[in-house]
This record gives sequence, C-alpha cells and structure tokens, in this order.
Amino acid sequence: MVKKAVKATKGKPKTPTKYVYFFGNGKAEGKGGLKELLGGKGAGLAEMTNLSIPVPPGFTISTDACVEYIRRRRKYPPGLWDTVLKNMTRLEKTMSMGFGDPSNPLLVSVRSGARASMPGMMDTVLNLGLNDQTVQGLIKKTHNERFGCDAYRRFIAMFSTIVMDVKREVFEECLQAKKTSLGCTHDIDLNARALRELINEFKILVQRHAGRDFPQDPIDQLRMGTNAIFDSWNGDRAITYRRLYKIPDAWGTAVNIVAMVFGNMGNDSGTGVVFTRSPSSGAATLFGEFLSNAQGEDVVAGIRTPLPIAKMETAIPSAYKALTKIHRKLERHYCDMLDLEFTVQKGQLYMLQTRVGKRTGIAAVKIAVDMVKERLITKEEAVLRVEPEHLEQYLYPVFDPSAEARFTKQGKGLPAGPGAAAGKIALTPEQAIAMKAAGDRVVLVRMETSPDDIHGMSASSGFLTARGGMTSHAAVVARQMGKVCIAGCEAVEVEGDSSVRIGSARFNKGDFISINGFDGSVYEGDIPVMASEVVQVIQGTLKPEKSERYQYFSKVLQWADTFRSLDVRANADAPDQAAVARGFGAQGIGLCRTEHMFFAEGRVEIMQNMIMARTTSDRMKHLDELLPLQKQDFIGLYRKMDGYPVTIRLFDPPLHEFLPKREDLMVQVARAELTGEDPATLAKTKRMLARVDELHEFNPMLGLRGCRLGILMPEITRMQVRAIIEAACEVTKEGGNIFPEIMVPLIGTWGEMRTQKQVIQDVASQVMAEYHKVIPYQVGTMIELPRAAIMAGEIAEEAEFFSFGTNDLTQTVFGFSRDDASKIINFYMTMQDRCPHCQAMDIDQKTMVCRACGFQIAKRLDNILSGDPFTTLDQKGVGGFIEIAIERGRAARPDLKIGICGEHGGDPSSVEFCHRAGLGYVSCSPYRVPIARLAAAQAAINHGVIAERKPSARRATRPASKRGKTATRSRR
Ligand code: ADP
Ligand code: MG
Ligand code: MG
Repeated sequence: MVKKAVKATKGKPKTPTKYVYFFGNGKAEGKGGLKELLGGKGAGLAEMTNLSIPVPPGFTISTDACVEYIRRRRKYPPGLWDTVLKNMTRLEKTMSMGFGDPSNPLLVSVRSGARASMPGMMDTVLNLGLNDQTVQGLIKKTHNERFGCDAYRRFIAMFSTIVMDVKREVFEECLQAKKTSLGCTHDIDLNARALRELINEFKILVQRHAGRDFPQDPIDQLRMGTNAIFDSWNGDRAITYRRLYKIPDAWGTAVNIVAMVFGNMGNDSGTGVVFTRSPSSGAATLFGEFLSNAQGEDVVAGIRTPLPIAKMETAIPSAYKALTKIHRKLERHYCDMLDLEFTVQKGQLYMLQTRVGKRTGIAAVKIAVDMVKERLITKEEAVLRVEPEHLEQYLYPVFDPSAEARFTKQGKGLPAGPGAAAGKIALTPEQAIAMKAAGDRVVLVRMETSPDDIHGMSASSGFLTARGGMTSHAAVVARQMGKVCIAGCEAVEVEGDSSVRIGSARFNKGDFISINGFDGSVYEGDIPVMASEVVQVIQGTLKPEKSERYQYFSKVLQWADTFRSLDVRANADAPDQAAVARGFGAQGIGLCRTEHMFFAEGRVEIMQNMIMARTTSDRMKHLDELLPLQKQDFIGLYRKMDGYPVTIRLFDPPLHEFLPKREDLMVQVARAELTGEDPATLAKTKRMLARVDELHEFNPMLGLRGCRLGILMPEITRMQVRAIIEAACEVTKEGGNIFPEIMVPLIGTWGEMRTQKQVIQDVASQVMAEYHKVIPYQVGTMIELPRAAIMAGEIAEEAEFFSFGTNDLTQTVFGFSRDDASKIINFYMTMQDRCPHCQAMDIDQKTMVCRACGFQIAKRLDNILSGDPFTTLDQKGVGGFIEIAIERGRAARPDLKIGICGEHGGDPSSVEFCHRAGLGYVSCSPYRVPIARLAAAQAAINHGVIAERKPSARRATRPASKRGKTATRSRR
C-alpha cells in the first residue's frame, strides 16, 4: 500500500518539497545521514544538536533548493522564501530576540556547505542583521560600544566584499588610513569613535563602488546573502576546485543560517579549530589552534598565527574542559578523526562545525589501525578508511639524515604536510608553474596561500608559508594533494615577487631551499634525499621492528589480504625489481617484458646483428649468443620468485626499435661520403640503412610485432623458450619451485596461437628431456586485440591463460595511438570548459560569456571523455571486450587463468572492475603492489567476494546488517 502511494505521487508531488531544516534546543529536523541534502556542514550541525552538544540554533536551506534556483535561472522555487521567513521567526522565538529588532537584535551567520567540504571556497558572512539601528541595540545589550561598532564595520566590509563584489582592498586601505591618521598600529587600538567614523566612511565606499547604498533591511541582507551562496556554486574558484577533485556540478550547495555567538567579547572569548587527532602523523592527541578575543575566520584565514590548542587550557579552563569532553564524545559517535570548529563566548563553548578530518596517508593508516585497537572500528572498516593511492606517501623519500645535519637551518614552522622537499624557490604561483614546466623541482614560498594559488601549488613539491596554522589553506591543500608543507614559519619574510628573507639568509627566486615536513625545519640549499623507512625495510637496510611506520603500513595491508580475492602480481623484468615486488607482497610476476632484456648494455649490438642477418642460420648464430644472457636473466627472476608463477612474454616490439633512426643513418652516410673517410664503416652504415628501409612500416604498432614476429621468425621464439625452460630446470635443480607461464603477445586468431604453441611445446619437451626434468609450465596469451576478445572461445582451446594487455587493448579498441592521442584525449576531457563557438577555454563563469569571442553560452558542452582511458580503464568499452573474452574463454576452458597486466592493474578503480569481472589477479609495477592489494580488498568488501572461486576468502563477507552500518560510517 505504502509503495503504491509513493508511486502515485511520483509524477506530481502533492506535498511541497521540504527545503528548510531547523535545528535548536537539542532537537534537529535533519540528521548526520542527510549530507546530500543538507551539505556536510548542515548535517553535522543537525547531528551535534541531536547529541545535545551546544550548537547555536539555526536552519539549513537544502542543496535541492540551490539546484532548483540554478535550474530556474536564479529564481527561488515557489514557497521557499516564505519557509525561510517562517524559520527565521522560529529562530527568533528560540533565541528570544528579534531579527532587525533595534532593542534586542538577533544576528546570524550565513554559511555555505556543500556535500563534500571545499576548503576556502565559499565565504561565510558573519554578524548579518546589523544596521544603523540594531547596532545601537547590540551596544546597549553588551554595554560595549567598541564591540558593537567593531562588529558593524566588520560586517559592512565582509558583506560588501563577499555579496556585493566590492574589492577587499577598498576597505583595507580606508582602515589603514584611519590607523595611520590616529597613530595606531593594530585594529584593536582603534577606539569606538574611530570605528564609528569608519562605519560612515565604509558606507560611502559601498555607495561609490557598488552603486547602491549598503542594505539596511536585515531581510534584504538575508536574501542577498543566500543568493550569493547559491551563485558561488558557479563561481570560478568553485568550478576549478570541482574539476580538480571530480566533484559533480549537479550537487549544489546548502545554506546554513546560524544564530551568532561572539568570540570577540574579551579574553574569556575566542575561536578555534581542532582535529581530534593529528592530521599529519595520526598521533592521538587533540591537535589544533585557537585565537582569543577573535571572531570567525581569523583562524582559518591564517592572518594571525594562532596559539596551539593546549594553551587554551590555561586561558579559558572551563571551555577547554568542555572541548575535551565533546571531542571524545564526537569521536566515539562518528568513529573517526574529526575536524571541529568552535567559538567561546564569555567562557561558554559553542560548536560550529564537525566533519571527518582530512588527513595524510600516513595519518590515515595510523588512525585506522589505532582505532581498531581501541575497538572503535572493525578491521574491515580500517581497510576501507585508507585511500589506496595514499599509501604512496609511505614510499616518498626523506632527507638523508647525515646530509641534513650539514645544512644550515634557517627557520622552523609547523609540520603541516609530511615528507621532504628540496627545490627552487618560487614566490608566486606563476613562477612555480613556469619552473615546473622547465623541469625544475619547486618549493612555493608565500606569506600565506589562497584558493587562487591552487594551480601553482599543484606544480610545486612543497609549500612554505610565513603565516597560518595547521588548518591554514596551505596546510589543508598540502594534506589533500600529498605535498610537503610547513606553515606558520615566522622566520619567513617575503619581499615582493623576487626575493625572500628566511632567518639570517636572503634568497632570490630560483635559489634552492629544503623543507622537512616531518619536523618543520627549513634549510638553505638542496639536501639530498634517501629512501623512506618502508622502502629501506623492503631493501633490507632497516629491520622491520625498528620502524614503527613500516609496522603500521604492513598491518593494514595484512588485514587487506584477508579480505581480497584478487591476487596481486608485479610487472618486473629484472631480479632487483622482482625483489622489491616480493617485499611489497607480490604473488608472482604477471608480466616480464623480455625485450627490455635486449636493450641492456652489450646486447643491443647482438640484437642488431641478429636483425641484420639475411638467413635463418645466420640469425640463429646471433640468437645463440643471446641465449645464455637471457637464461641468466630468467634464473635471477626465478630465484626471487621461488614458489610463485612467473609470466614471461615472448618478444613483442617491432624490430626497427633496435636499429638507429633512419634520419640519423642518412646523415651519417652523407657525412661519410663527403669526407670520404673509413669506407668499411660507410658500407656498414649503408647496409643498416637499407635494412631499416626494408623494415620501414607506416604504422609499426600495427605491423610486424608480437606473435607475428615469432611466426615469421620462429627461431626467436625457440631461443626464448629454450632460455625459459633451461633456466627453470637449473633453478629446480637448486631446489626451487618454478612455474613459468609463457605468454604469446598480440594474438588475433586461433591459428596464430596454435602455431606458436607448437613451437613452444616442441622446444620445451626437448629441453626437459635434456635435463630429465618436468617443469609445470603453461602457454597462454595476452588479449590485446578486439578480435582476440571476440574469438576468445577458440583461442582458449589452445591458450591455458589469458592476460589482458589493456594498454594495447585500449589503443586498438578506441583506435587511439597512445603516443599521439593525448592531445585529443585532453580536448575531449575539457569540452565542458570550452566555448561551443570558438573552443577557447576562457569562459566568464558568472555571465557565461566567452572572453575570447564574446559568444553568450546558453548551454555548456558535455565532456566526450570523463577520464583518460590509458590511466583508468574504460569500463564500458574496453571493459566490455574484457567481459566478453572472460565469458567465452571460460566457456571453452573452465579452469582458464585470467589476469590483467596493463598499466591499469595498479589503478584502484580499474582494480575494482577487475574484481567485479571475476579476474584471478592484477599485475602492476612493483611500487604499486601495496596500492593494488588495498584496492583489491576494498573491492571485495564493497562488492562481495566471488565465493565460488575463492572459498578461503569467504570470511570477508559479513552479515548484511553490520555491513550497512559500516557503509554509512566509513564513507567520507
Ligand atoms: P568554512 O566553510 O570556511 O569553514 P564556516 O561557515 O564554517 O566557513 O565559517 C567560518 C567560521 O566562522 C567558523 O569556523 C566560525 O568560527 C565562524 N562562524 C560561523 N558561524 C558563526 C556563528 N553563528 N557564530 C559565531 N561564529 C561563526
Ligand atoms: Mg570559508
Ligand atoms: Mg568551517
């Protein structure tokens, strides 16, 4: 019955949509789970209210309202404004104050809040509701004229810059002039009279720069503020941020209207930001900062360097005690590390925001593992808490400690983003971009950073700022981007765009500087780096028990291994790579590219001779020279991979890659002919040129390569198989367990597979007979052509395993050349930002007019590609071929082994696809093995384990009831 009723109203909702959610007096209409509707901030305020945590009352206008407003071209949906006004009345009652009431004025903040937090993006307006009359009421109530005037002048400046587009400097200059004329240095030195004068001067400035009077009607102020927040969703900064972090444009932002509390009412008041644990190391202590006698964004903006939070204990003990209680309560409730904003008004603590805190990869792992020990979360949740890519931070190099001691330390700041960065100083984002483009390592040095610096920040390896705390813009961005950051380093004094003083030294842009993000030290010069602790353990130069960091890293991966059903192998061609791969937990080699072995020192010449050979017997002579070398390579690999499978791909690239370039040879010939020197060399060069001409192909990637080479020149295959099996026999003699998988590349037809398999089996049997050994080898193929995928059933009659070579498969399915298509792909991914008329990427986001051609854009283009298919597997197209191949291959051969060895094997979302598609393993580069292990575990947890294939991993599935709870809590 209920279902029916819902259905009936679906087309035409009878009850009007609820757009506004009130919270106050310990009860909220919303709750924490409604993030999509209320935005992160609104959901958090509602949840805290429901937990009886002191939050000033208010209400949230939903993201749906914003989406409607944008859809209706900046008009409210019907009934919205009435509802807002009704909730305003309710807020007045709750507070026993009147909005616009001159004797007892209610003031509010107007705050944006999208589903995902977008730091520093949309600004909050504080003290809204002040005007010439209400300011008098505020003064009377607080008996503090200075406070009232200060609040009003701040409000005029803030509202006018954020909502009315007046430039901030307009007010700053005026303020500065006032201070100069009165001989004051700080804002705080201005008395009430000076502030009153400022208010009048500000109002005149507003009139001049905005072309209208400062709005005196609080209701007007409220409407303008709300509109500004809705509009800011489509502002330049917001759009840039969304592109960078792949946040959909369709979400919209919520608006929070919250009754004001005042942190600027004296020394028993203040405002602050804390993390419940360290966001950079994960250490379990309250971490953050506060500023006494201050309001709002003073902390976040990094304008004054605030005090560490521990100092609040002596400054306002009662509030500090309340804060520690609340922080524990909230951590226990959310079961995660949180980022909290608060204000203290005359000793009374108010919470203004809670959200799951952003953290570095190192902190993410430590917090997850610690919270399991504290029984706050399960191992499964811990595994879901760490972003696979974030594990890379454990592999970042650190400064070589002995070298670090020799360099001069010039300052110390807050270690806001861990790691070691050394590079050239850039003092503006533009310099950073230019230096990066020139191939330099860059450290961006600023007084403070702002959202406009974001491109320069992403071009830098690290940031150093003079101002700001652990929660400043630079710090937050660093942790998100995984960059090194030192914030609040008072020794730094930027002098314009070309020089900076740090401690006792003066640097010009382009000079070298080194910053240690683990302890906050800043050094002159370029300190050499060395391997991270984890890498040192893997390399055997550090004992695991000596490294706490390694222990945390391996703990979370051990847990991951209990959940995943995919095996993880590595792509490795050399024993040292194989050793690293094993150290990171690889369960075999999924791709050994044998041609890499031919490019080695002293081997290219033999290769060239082999290619130059005119007859088979001549070619075999040179191949015989290669045989022992190649065999030695395999022996090395097998020893490192004892007990695990090693997939060896037969020779794949076109031969011309081993010969000099045609143009170079022509130049050499011409030069030798001119000078008449050395006729023997000339003749040889000419012969080589002739062979290059003969091998010349218009499209070598689709030419004589892969199995086609082995079919036309079976002696190459024979030599390689002999090396593979001889090496296996010899390592078996040493007691090793070797499982070679011989992989034939670029198969398109059954016949190709059959032909090569026969060659392989002949040689293998012969070698095994010579050695009196039986090697359990398999013969299979790479699936990298659309035809192979479609004909997988036939091919699987011969092939004992498939490995998806998704680099080539992507090339051939799309018809994109990997080396040439990046320009097209980049274009396809940026259609949304282009003018539909002239294609320029220069659209004024507010007016939607193309700055290049003046075209008024009615509708944006859609992106043709959402991502680069060479980085993230195209699941529909290329993935479709993979699914067909798996289905047909398994139908023909139920025990067919299937894996993937393309670049995608280490990309978390592609790993997830592989899990769902039912592959047996993924193979990726050795350093991405930990990432793939974690991604595979997350895929198994999120999508259920494919139980038929891997009964041993079944414990990963948990009762559905429990799993539901996990999902809401751990999604970030
Ligand atoms: P952001 O999204 O940048 O974090 P917020 O909306 O959280 O912006 O506002 C920034 C700061 O402004 C808050 O941390 C808080 O200090 C202050 N603030 C916001 N609303 C109020 C309020 N109602 N009373 C007092 N301070 C407030
Ligand atoms: Mg802000
Ligand atoms: Mg905030």
